[in-house]
Amino acid sequence: MTEWLIKGASVAGGEPADIHLRDGVIAAIGQDLDAPGASVLDAAGLIALPGLVDLHTHLREPGREDAETVETGTRAAALGGYTAVHAMANTEPVADTAGVVEQVWRLGEQAGYVDVRPVGAVTVGLNGKQLAELGAMADSAARVRVFSDDGLCVADPLLMRRALEYVKAFDGVIAQHPQEPRLTEGAQLNEGETASRLGLAGWPAAAEEAIIARDCLLAAHVDASLHVCHVSTAGSVEIIRWAKGRGVAVTAEVTPHHLLLTDDLAENYDPVFKVNPPLRTRADVDALRQALADGTIDCVATDHAPHPVEAKETEWAAAANGMTGLETALRVVHKAMVETGLLDWAGVADRMSARPAAIGRVPGHGQPLTKGAPANLTLYDPAAAATRVDPATHASKSRNSPFAGMALPGRVHATFLRGTATVLDGKVTR
Ligand SMILES: [Zn+2]
Repeated sequence: MTEWLIKGASVAGGEPADIHLRDGVIAAIGQDLDAPGASVLDAAGLIALPGLVDLHTHLREPGREDAETVETGTRAAALGGYTAVHAMANTEPVADTAGVVEQVWRLGEQAGYVDVRPVGAVTVGLNGKQLAELGAMADSAARVRVFSDDGLCVADPLLMRRALEYVKAFDGVIAQHPQEPRLTEGAQLNEGETASRLGLAGWPAAAEEAIIARDCLLAAHVDASLHVCHVSTAGSVEIIRWAKGRGVAVTAEVTPHHLLLTDDLAENYDPVFKVNPPLRTRADVDALRQALADGTIDCVATDHAPHPVEAKETEWAAAANGMTGLETALRVVHKAMVETGLLDWAGVADRMSARPAAIGRVPGHGQPLTKGAPANLTLYDPAAAATRVDPATHASKSRNSPFAGMALPGRVHATFLRGTATVLDGKVTR
């Protein structure tokens, strides 16, 4: 295995230091290190962050390999600075058995770009009616700890209660896609001024907030862990803040697109801006940024949702919901949170690595870059000139990036998984 000596990287935005990677761990970190025989990487001006961890990725395999595969999706993840991703369960077949989650986990091992942590479905076939084999998935080689019907809400309150109770036995967490289905039938865009003007059916904030409030009460009642996916409204933030204040074991994520984009982008009916939950208002974006800064929202999760061209380049109402995000997430957070002074780089390390690793119970990830820690890290160039996002250059099989054509700052320079470079000089190493 190649040894690496990273020279002069600013560790989580602090003082420059040398980092020696050997045998999969950080062998030493400090000033003027020497490591004869190691490959040297000049990291002056680069920021070293613990490898990013995504709680919410759609890798689409098995079943929708036309949109993404574990291989292409994890290559995209490494290019974005990630060393671990959670693969959502809404594949075909659904990841609702030990067999399917083990298949996804093995595909991740074979690809070798990042650690793939399969998410198990809460209900059989995402049917919302019958609990899946949660224990068997937890005991499988994939060691599933996060369960979600994402794409769909576990709308039945009794079923949600049972799921929350069940996973306590193995320290699991239920990740809820909060969307009251009756309140969002036919919904197309955030209910408000823009949707009215465009004549698109409204998607009310209350549909999200009602489920979050209900689930916080359920989690408190049975003393279980709840994770809220893709929080998108200011009201949701208020509910989560209230629940955390009462000691409820609730955590929450926000997507890069909800930190930067607003519903008025739908003005020209371009379905690249169609997503579930929908883009909201500037006031919501501001509240989400504040909540991520003050820790009410724990982490950033991409909700990377690749779709083939024909699913997105159609009329708005017929288009699929979803956006790609793995290759742009860190740059978007740089723009939305760091350039605005809301987070420093240590804060970014916390919200994009430490906290998602803790929520997802991911061993070996999210640890501070200290001697003896696993050598999972990314090197980011914050001073790289802003460049326009071009999805044609992305490793993802799909092109549905809402940031296409937008200028974003920074660049992921390198990513290391257990001391092996997966990305160097912005390119995958194989
Ligand atoms: Zn979702």
